[in-house]
Amino acid sequence: MYSVRLTLWGANAVQFNMHDNPILAFKNVRVNDFGGRSLSTLSTSSMVANIDIPEAYPLRSWYDGQGKMAHFQSYAGGGGSLTAGQGGDELKTISQVKEENLGNGDKPDYFTIDANIIFIKSENLAYPACPSESCNKKVVLDSSSQLWHCEQCQKGFPSPKYRYIMSMSASDTTGNLWLQCFDDTGSVVLGTSANEIMELHDSNREEFDARINRRNFLKYRFRCRAKSEVYNDTSRVRYTVVSISEIDFVAESMRKFKIIESY
Ligand SMILES: [Zn+2]
Repeated sequence: MYSVRLTLWGANAVQFNMHDNPILAFKNVRVNDFGGRSLSTLSTSSMVANIDIPEAYPLRSWYDGQGKMAHFQSYAGGGGSLTAGQGGDELKTISQVKEENLGNGDKPDYFTIDANIIFIKSENLAYPACPSESCNKKVVLDSSSQLWHCEQCQKGFPSPKYRYIMSMSASDTTGNLWLQCFDDTGSVVLGTSANEIMELHDSNREEFDARINRRNFLKYRFRCRAKSEVYNDTSRVRYTVVSISEIDFVAESMRKFKIIESY
C-alpha cells in the first residue's frame, strides 16, 4: 500500500481546515516526478471533501476499520530524498550553521536547511568511475587501447560510469553555503544520471548549460553533514548534502500559522 503527498496551492491551501481524515476527491492534479512521485494542485484542479459517489463508501469503511492503522510506503523516495527533519536534527538557518561552528568538532555534525540553489558549478560536475559493482574508483582513458583503466580492478572498460561530484552554492535569507553533492544527491538535483548529463555535455553544450541553469533558484530542504577537513595546511569545513527533499509548503505554512496563533 502506498501513500503519495499532494501539495495544495493558493486559496485551497490557505483555507484548508479539515479534520478527522475526510475522504477527499481531486480532479486534474499535476504529477511531479521529483525524487519519486508527488502531486500538486493547479488553478484548474478541483477538490471535494466527503464526496457522495459509490467509490467513497467502501474507502470510508476500510479506513475507519483497518486503514487508519495501515502502514503506507511512500511514493516519495528513491536514492537521495527523504522526509524533512529525519534523523532528529532541527531546521536551521545558514547563519546558525556558521555561528554554531558546526563541523568543527571531532565528529561530523548533521543539520537541515531550507535553501535556494544559487549556482551549480558546471566544471568537474562528475568524474569517470569504474563500472564494476561497488568499486567507484576513478578510471583513466588509456590512449593506446582506448579503454578506461581501473587501477583497483586492474581492468580496462569500453566506457566509464560517470558519478556526480558537484559543488553548488545555496542560500537563504541569512547567508550562503557551498554544498557538495555526490552521486545519489547530485542526480536528485539535476533530475538525471551523471552518465546522461555528461553525454549531453559532449553532444549539446547549450542544452547542458540550460539544464543546469534551470535548477537555479529552486528551493529545497537539504540535510547536510558538516566536517572540517585539512587541505594545504588550512582547515575548512566541508558541507556535504546527504539527502534532499521538496519542502512541504502546506506543513510549513501550518507550522507558521500555529506559531502566529500562539501569540
Ligand atoms: Zn574498479
